[in-house]
Amino acid sequence: MHLIPCPNCGARPTEEFRFGGEVPAIPDRVVGVEARDVDLVWFSNNVDGPSVERWYHLGGCKRWLTLARDTHTDTVLGADST
Ligand SMILES: [Zn+2]
Repeated sequence: MHLIPCPNCGARPTEEFRFGGEVPAIPDRVVGVEARDVDLVWFSNNVDGPSVERWYHLGGCKRWLTLARDTHTDTVLGADST
């Protein structure tokens, strides 16, 4: 992955961004706000394939974005500003 499509700035080099972590898929068996927060902070799925991640555009708009990325092929599947 050499370019990240920032929703605010367009396609920019990866070096301008900082990785903010994976947004893990939380199993349905995890219920309650506290339990879900623990899963979000302490666990990651570290998948080999489609993954959802948070990135911070440090060298551009200085905003967070959510990136869908295939970690196996290192290709971007989509990005949005939420
Ligand atoms: Zn940006």
